[in-house]
Amino acid sequence: MAVFGAVYSAVIGLCVGSFLNVVAYRLPRGESVVRPRSRCPGCGGRIAGRDNLPVLSFVLLGGRCRMCGARISWRYPVVEATAGLLWLISWLTFGPTVDGLAAALFSSLLLVLATIDAAHYLLPDQLTYLTLGLGLAASFGVTWTTPLGSVLGAAAGAVALLLLIGVWYLLRRVRGMGLGDVKMLAGVGAFLGPYGMLLTLFLACLFGAVFGLLLMVRGRLGWGSRLPFGVFLSIGAVVALFFGPRLIAAYSSLL
Ligand SMILES: [Zn+2]
Repeated sequence: MAVFGAVYSAVIGLCVGSFLNVVAYRLPRGESVVRPRSRCPGCGGRIAGRDNLPVLSFVLLGGRCRMCGARISWRYPVVEATAGLLWLISWLTFGPTVDGLAAALFSSLLLVLATIDAAHYLLPDQLTYLTLGLGLAASFGVTWTTPLGSVLGAAAGAVALLLLIGVWYLLRRVRGMGLGDVKMLAGVGAFLGPYGMLLTLFLACLFGAVFGLLLMVRGRLGWGSRLPFGVFLSIGAVVALFFGPRLIAAYSSLL
């Protein structure tokens, strides 16, 4: 039963990942995410069902379109595999509970936000508001926060990031982040509550700083360059979601 559940969750996650690819491709281009069926960007040919299996089709086709031979981006199977992994971890961590479903949906939203931000430096309102709304709704069922914690987390998330943007502007005279990041951290706060939100923000700044320094050392980044902060918020929120209580306990035992 446990093994069946784990495999089933991973397979659903792979299919969700396939849909997230459609959303990540079409939403920034203003296209409908439900119609029409997937087409190859190279030749415009309709992609058959047997060539649309998550990860597997990419491997079987050698990363090329069956009709025209155009290369398929490696991002598609990576997003599908990541979604499968996130749904599997949700099952392994929380089992068949409201927590498990909320964790799977939340991490899927984080994945598609990170994918779009990495490609377009954009966090679409539709997705950040959806995260906020689902987070508030989920707070009535999950065990890690309450409706009050959800509202507090959302408000504190928005205020914290606005303050950070303000301080950054005073120091560097550039806007380091956008309002999309503010809305996204509000959504994270709605899902995780104030403590999870603060842990997410701390981890995102840490990951962003490390990544930025690595790029600077390799001469790929100047002081004025932009980083897609939503990517780091996503990674931070996934860590806070699955490992937050353990991290906070480990930190408290150090003090
Ligand atoms: Zn093609």
